[in-house]
Amino acid sequence: MVEQTIASASSFRYIDIGVNLTDPVFRGTYYGKKRHEDDMNAVLDRARNAGLKSMIITGTSLAESRGALSLAKDLGFFCTVGCHPTRAAEFDKFKGGPEAYLKALDKLVASNLHGKGRAVAIGECGLDYDRLHFASPEVQRKHFRSQLSLAKKYHLPLFLHSRAAHADFVKILREEGFGEGGGTAVGGKGGVVHSFTGSPTEASELMDMGFYLSVNGCSLKTEENLQTAKAIRPDRVLLETDAPWCSMTGGHASKQHLASLPPSLREFYFPPSTKPENCTAGKTVKGRNEPCAVGGVAWVIHKLHEIPLETITETAFKNTVDLFGLEIEDEDPSDSLG
Ligand SMILES: [Zn+2]
Repeated sequence: MVEQTIASASSFRYIDIGVNLTDPVFRGTYYGKKRHEDDMNAVLDRARNAGLKSMIITGTSLAESRGALSLAKDLGFFCTVGCHPTRAAEFDKFKGGPEAYLKALDKLVASNLHGKGRAVAIGECGLDYDRLHFASPEVQRKHFRSQLSLAKKYHLPLFLHSRAAHADFVKILREEGFGEGGGTAVGGKGGVVHSFTGSPTEASELMDMGFYLSVNGCSLKTEENLQTAKAIRPDRVLLETDAPWCSMTGGHASKQHLASLPPSLREFYFPPSTKPENCTAGKTVKGRNEPCAVGGVAWVIHKLHEIPLETITETAFKNTVDLFGLEIEDEDPSDSLG
């Protein structure tokens, strides 16, 4: 492949479709302990400088979805509303029971369908059989299935999580009418399996069902992961960081491809980092992933597919706008993030 001349970070635009921006680490608090000043504005500045035009803040429970909505409204981003499989036990513990929990999610979606900061997807929901200590497979399946009704009712895409549970995951989706065309026949609007770490065969099955697959640092850890990422068709790929999680580290298989990242992009996608105690506005925190790193994910994908970086970034951008029905007003990189 002939490497094109990379002008600057402002030549590429991104939407991070999975960012846990409500996490206290972005306010300087780690495991309940204050380690540095709130540096959210610096995080957003770095994101803007790295070419981010917007983000979709992940809602992972009823309470967290409320937090995600409020932050998305403040910042002019978008968010998801739903309950993560590891939080599925909350349905049963809720005052009024599972029906009341679902109803509360329903109400939250219904009252936030329009304008800035709106809910653009149902989720994060799905199955996680790697982490059964929080909720049993039965509990996870029951409340994954119930949340699919919201996607049908509001014609919203799904923001899905699937870990070590592929067979049950697609079984439930198929039984609920999401087996083809992303579920349009039952009122659905497709969706994305985020943080995808499955096999190439699993990727093909989900793409054939009409779903997108979203890639982050955790999707690029091993050689097997890279084979899967290569099997994701560009017209089905989305980009995310899952920040503050899923940083790309030196021990990952992605490293061999990041080695060729030009300094003119590296300084924006991977700014210098420091320990939390030494965190100042100009520096990122070691181990805390940030939205600005989404460009690093794109870089690895473009190397794997052997197509120009701009082709991957623009295709992923268009996929994102199409799937979530976003309006991204400005074309001018100098006044992107609100
Ligand atoms: Zn997830």
